[in-house]
Amino acid sequence: MKRVVIIGGGIAGLATAYFLQQRGGAEYKLIESAPYFGGKIVSAQEKGFVIEGGPDSFLTTKPAALELCRALGLGDQLIGTNDAGRKVFVWSRGKLRAMPDGVMLIIPTRIMPFVKSGLISWPGKVRMGMDVVIPPRRDDGDESLAHFVRRRLGSEALDRIAEPMIAGIYVADAEYLSLKSTFPRFLDMEKKYGGLLRGVIAQRRAANGKSNGKPATSMFMTLRGGLQDMVDAILARLDPQSLISNRQVVGITRASVGYRVALSDGASLDSDAVVFATPTYATADVVQSFDGGLADALRTIRYVSTATVSFGFKRAELTHPLDGFGFVVPRSEKRKIIACSWSSTKFNHRAADGYALVRAFIGGAHAEHLAEEADEAVAQMARDELRAMMGITAQPVLTKVYRWHKANPQYAVGHAERVAEIERQAARHAGLFLAGGAYHGVGIPDCIEDGKRVAEQIA
Ligand SMILES: Cc1cc2nc3c(=O)[nH]c(=O)nc-3n(C[C@H](O)[C@H](O)[C@H](O)COP(=O)(O)OP(=O)(O)OC[C@H]3O[C@@H](n4cnc5c(N)ncnc54)[C@H](O)[C@@H]3O)c2cc1C
Repeated sequence: MKRVVIIGGGIAGLATAYFLQQRGGAEYKLIESAPYFGGKIVSAQEKGFVIEGGPDSFLTTKPAALELCRALGLGDQLIGTNDAGRKVFVWSRGKLRAMPDGVMLIIPTRIMPFVKSGLISWPGKVRMGMDVVIPPRRDDGDESLAHFVRRRLGSEALDRIAEPMIAGIYVADAEYLSLKSTFPRFLDMEKKYGGLLRGVIAQRRAANGKSNGKPATSMFMTLRGGLQDMVDAILARLDPQSLISNRQVVGITRASVGYRVALSDGASLDSDAVVFATPTYATADVVQSFDGGLADALRTIRYVSTATVSFGFKRAELTHPLDGFGFVVPRSEKRKIIACSWSSTKFNHRAADGYALVRAFIGGAHAEHLAEEADEAVAQMARDELRAMMGITAQPVLTKVYRWHKANPQYAVGHAERVAEIERQAARHAGLFLAGGAYHGVGIPDCIEDGKRVAEQIA
């Protein structure tokens, strides 16, 4: 029986343990430094609200999370976004303006809503249209998202559409964000069709007649009782004897066979394989005296801090219609929140009848320090911004702050090369594996896929 130690009980570590157990042939220990498992996936049910502290949904176009939920018997708990209310707003020049219908992250896919929209000025619209005539870049090197969007669609499209939309997902600086590691499909579109708008037209032609244009499943899904139900369902299937929480891994050394993993309480575990499903800086601390070169390579990935603040309100006390999924805020607007989800419009079952749930995001690449302030200060900051931007003066019936210190890995330009270097260094140690949101995708499906891949490699 192969002995495996998995370090880090976030979704990547949990998925590794789950798939190892599914395959059989290995005995594992899953070690988590916090008192609970799940890492960034934390949900709470309070006063009739379902509050997400970290992620609120997962992408279904990468099917790993959807498939896992179904395999865990949670199929009937899955809920999609309320796509009838799909509108997203952008805070721009003093008010919330609707993102034109059909904008696919950065590219307008429908002409009329875009032409009528007041979000982009006429010169800005003309500049975006020039994408059709701008020749494609020839070399294959990485470039930043900002550089790419400026080059193809112009500065206004970057400032008012791409930067706030993408910053909302990656909590990153668009000037440094690697296009190759985050949205390679935009690069492919440029290469294949000569430009983004040409790509959209060609893809629409190819799709014509093949479908009614509506995906069978919602693009984002979550669980009725919160994403933590997925964590709890995995835990219920793992061997309780294999789960160790409240214990930090502090170092690893070579044993006569395999590795010896040292824990914070002075205990140690011998294993044939070790899986690090921890943030890269935490992995670096553990391997520092074992392999300084690997630790240095791991430290090349930077992380930033964020905070989420959820507010529950009595619906009748809000004058705002909450007629969309929420809004994003361009950096140039210099506000203290970077985005806000209207959670109870986005998903059903997030608030009891007569109540509404909204969630503000603070911090990120440009304003990390704001996310590090005391809970009361973070909550007040969010309330002040919601008053100014949405006219909310009501007293919340619920306020919940979640702080995410150095939680968001930054996929900066050259990320793929940095990861390749880390993996090259790690591969020198047989039986040592890396998994999690720092490497091949930050989303929950990416982390689950990573756990599955590692479990297969071990097996
Ligand atoms: C605010 C926020 C919103 C997000 N929204 C979404 C979303 O809507 N959809 C989506 O798909 N993704 C979202 N993400 C990203 C996603 O949540 C994460 O990428 C993913 O959960 C990371 O999982 P992980 O297992 O790699 O890491 P983590 O969840 O960070 O787990 C790592 C674990 O390792 C433990 N650990 C660290 N060091 C040690 C040690 N030495 N010994 C033992 N244990 C250790 C930590 O305590 C932690 O529990 C969001 C992230 C944040 C912060």
